[in-house]
Formats: sequence, structure tokens, C-alpha cells
Amino acid sequence: MRIRKGDLVEIIAGEDASQGATRRRMATVLQVMPKQGKVLVEGVNVVSKHVRPSRKNPQGGRLDIEAPIDMSNVMPVCSKCNQGVRVGYRIGEDGVKVRYCKKCDAVLSKVSKQK
Ligand SMILES: [Zn+2]
Repeated sequence: MRIRKGDLVEIIAGEDASQGATRRRMATVLQVMPKQGKVLVEGVNVVSKHVRPSRKNPQGGRLDIEAPIDMSNVMPVCSKCNQGVRVGYRIGEDGVKVRYCKKCDAVLSKVSKQK
């Protein structure tokens, strides 16, 4: 999986996409849905949902929630390049699998073995 929960990503396609280098749209991944190939990204693709009053939300009314967007619409952000980049995987010196930036070769994160 290229994208992981908690990643900072750049939105590269869709309504919320970055507008060139001056207005990059970056946000944090809230949830990854591997089966659908989609991700929930904070503040991106927000839709209003009408809800009935409930104990949690006694007023009811409108609720803004993020709708999933296609995983291919986002790219992980490299903190060195400060933009969305293509990433690759490799085994680091300590034998731990890492994700790295294919542009500047910086290691983005270690890949935990639990998934
Ligand atoms: Zn980079």
C-alpha cells in the first residue's frame, strides 16, 4: 500500500487538487480503504450530510463529513521536496523496509510489519 493512515499527501487530481506549485493542497490521510482503493483525507471532498437529531447531535441538521477519494488522486508528500512524490520501497541498512522518495532518495518512513 502506497498510502498509509496519518500520511501527509498532496491532492493531485479532483476538485480539491493542487493548483500548481504556488497552491499545493496537502492534507492528512484519516483512513485508508484498501478494498475500495480509496482514502479519506482531512478536509478534502467534504460533503454536507443531513442528519436527524440524535443524542450526540441534538440539533440535527447538516454535518460536514469527508467523502472518500480515489487513492490515485493523492501522492505522499516528501518533506524534503515539499510536494507529492512517487515513492518506492527498499530494505534499509538495519534490515527494516522503508519507503523512500524516488525524486530525492530521502527515506519517508519505515514500514511496520503488522500490515
Ligand atoms: Zn524527496
